[in-house]
Amino acid sequence: MSAPEQTKRTLRIACDDVVPGCGFTASGDTEEEVIDKVAAHAAHDHGVCEITPELAARIKAAIARR
Ligand SMILES: [Zn+2]
Repeated sequence: MSAPEQTKRTLRIACDDVVPGCGFTASGDTEEEVIDKVAAHAAHDHGVCEITPELAARIKAAIARR
């Protein structure tokens, strides 16, 4: 494990940035955690059973650091 603790921030994503019109938001300490939550949501609510590299890139681009 090599998580950079000094840059620990809460990351947020609005699904609306990836799937326009969706009100789902997720937050987490790491990109991985946020992507995990969005992936679970996408599978459940959007029928997306696989996060492709392209989709992952869009999710990463949509993650706002606050
Ligand atoms: Zn959604």
